[in-house]
Amino acid sequence: MLFFQKHPVLVSRLKYILITHSHLDHFLPLVVATLAEQKLKASSEPLELLGNHTVISAMRFYLEHQLVEGRVVSKENKPRIKLTQLEPFKLTKLAPFEILPLPANHAIDYSWESIYPEEVKLPFGGNLLLKREDAFNYLIAFNQQKVFYGLDSAWPLPQTMAVLKEQQLDLAVLDATFGFEDPLPGHMNFEIVAQLVDELCLEDKAIASHLGLHWVPPHSQSESWLAKRKIKLAYDGMSLSI
Ligand SMILES: [Zn+2]
Ligand SMILES: [Zn+2]
Repeated sequence: MLFFQKHPVLVSRLKYILITHSHLDHFLPLVVATLAEQKLKASSEPLELLGNHTVISAMRFYLEHQLVEGRVVSKENKPRIKLTQLEPFKLTKLAPFEILPLPANHAIDYSWESIYPEEVKLPFGGNLLLKREDAFNYLIAFNQQKVFYGLDSAWPLPQTMAVLKEQQLDLAVLDATFGFEDPLPGHMNFEIVAQLVDELCLEDKAIASHLGLHWVPPHSQSESWLAKRKIKLAYDGMSLSI
């Protein structure tokens, strides 16, 4: 949003917003609605929002409702915006791009402790593995190049891994949220990213991103460790040619 405030002329050229999942660090309906209004003022074409069922449903709800004196009521004048729900493994053409949504290992609770306090002992064992939504990563093809946008995700799910192993990727953006710490479910750390880079032969093609400032050490320290494993470290304003 701040980027578009600084560069308002780019709003008229904005056609699509591709969302991976509904977590607040990736998706805010207010921001999308504001951009949609600005885009309509700048050009006659409505903005198109693409994402999973949760994202599209949340956006539709936001457009159709408002909060008045603590009550959710219907809203009459909603900004014009095209909503497109994506399905996993179904190729979508957004000329000149081709987008393949792949299920991410994210928004899945692994353990009972994540929903019950630790002191609660359940009388049965087993894993929780409760999927909250169909978070996506995206395989994006453009001009004979292929990019994997892998945020957010822990180690890829089996079907996603199978697709990735068939690809000759030119670039992969991978989730290194936890730096040198043990990762919580849904994310990776530097070592796991390095193992994934080895597994998918992504040397010199991988970017470590989605860095959690609570866990990731200072930039120069992280950068030199990752460089030894042939991984680049993301930073604000990073621009790449492939
Ligand atoms: Zn998330
Ligand atoms: Zn995130």
